[in-house]
Amino acid sequence: MTVESSQSPAPGCGGGHDTPALALADARARVLAAVAALTDTETVALRAALGRVLGEPVVSQINVPGHTNSAMDGYALRAADAAGDDNRLRLVGKSFAGAPFDGVVAAGECVRIMTGGVVPDGADSVVMQERTAASGDDVRIQGAVAKGDNVRPAGEDLARGASVFDAGRHIGAADLGVLASAGATEAVVFRRPRVAFFSTGDELKGVGQPLAPGDIYDSNRYSLYGMLAELGVEIVDMGVIPDDPDALEAAFREAGDSCDALITSGGVSVGEADHVVDVLGRVGDVGFWRVAIKPGRPLTFGRVGKALFFGLPGNPVSVMVTFLQLVRPALVKLAGAVPALPLQMSLATLAAIDKKPGRREYQRGRMRHTTRGTVVEPLGHQGSGVLSSMSTADCFIVLDADSGPAAAGAMVQVEPFAQPVWNGER
Ligand code: AMP
Ligand code: MG
Repeated sequence: MTVESSQSPAPGCGGGHDTPALALADARARVLAAVAALTDTETVALRAALGRVLGEPVVSQINVPGHTNSAMDGYALRAADAAGDDNRLRLVGKSFAGAPFDGVVAAGECVRIMTGGVVPDGADSVVMQERTAASGDDVRIQGAVAKGDNVRPAGEDLARGASVFDAGRHIGAADLGVLASAGATEAVVFRRPRVAFFSTGDELKGVGQPLAPGDIYDSNRYSLYGMLAELGVEIVDMGVIPDDPDALEAAFREAGDSCDALITSGGVSVGEADHVVDVLGRVGDVGFWRVAIKPGRPLTFGRVGKALFFGLPGNPVSVMVTFLQLVRPALVKLAGAVPALPLQMSLATLAAIDKKPGRREYQRGRMRHTTRGTVVEPLGHQGSGVLSSMSTADCFIVLDADSGPAAAGAMVQVEPFAQPVWNGER
């Protein structure tokens, strides 16, 4: 893969500061165009396929269900024998799930059947227990039964020989169950992308270390770790690299030799300690630098060795926004699946929103479910350094580049980024 030639040269490579930032949609299209999906596959045990991408199509070798069976507890019979309002049949046996009746149901006969029990030969329908009264082998059926009532045909879920999944399917919980229902013990999946990441900054300390004046803890490596772990890629944590071009160059080369993607944070602005774009220009290719979004403008994309390169800004909120908007879709494509477009919906805002025309903004919000429907509450502190706004938020309020402020009650575009399992309260 080659990255398109520089739209904006590295800050130290002559100009570029006044080059307009790319629109997010253009940046995303350029990133995706530069990603070649991995093609190596491996075979894994069924459960290990969760979160992985299928590397080849799956065809069902069996019918699911394997036999026509009952959807109810009741009696299997011939519908023609129960056409009237009050019918009497003779009980000739039973068919329980896993223990079929091995005879044939003749005219005037019925078989006790439980949910999942095989519908015996001769029978074509099941009447639910609640509509019957039994005494010994005499079974009374109230009301008419129609052919096929309460019967689940063999193969209604998956037919033998039919396609279960195409290659490129990202396996979720239901898919794992579907594969198990078809009897799969293993799955062929694409190799996981190997993704390295490091933080840059002389002020950064790892948790557990004492902080000198001006130091902060390196949080980006933790939020990045979380987002990468949720994606199921192979993670290579390269730690903190100081704001030193030689150290950065060595780290770039190491990742470029051994990984499919490298993600850094910090050092992509125009400050004197910001060396990432210069070093990328030296050891790799700068595809583009700067995207017209807030937060996250200095994002840099390119390539180093065999790795895609994402230089995320240092501010913790910018890291998460740019990862979700640009890095995650690229890693999904790299892993062999087609990335989903972010889900968007239009909701009324509970409070006025501040916004200047210029960049597309990803403000943090929280959806509120009220008796009048769902609305969005913009969170108070929108600074790109206020990471707690991300953990309080469950959605972005997405404001177009050209738009200005929004009044309370106005409809705004909302992009949920988390599906909470917990309601945020105690
Ligand atoms: P930079 O782009 O390197 O100038 O960083 C912008 C801001 O983000 C500065 O306030 C940095 O201290 C902060 N920052 C950079 N990297 C990290 C990190 N790994 N964790 C937390 N904050 C960071
Ligand atoms: Mg820095």
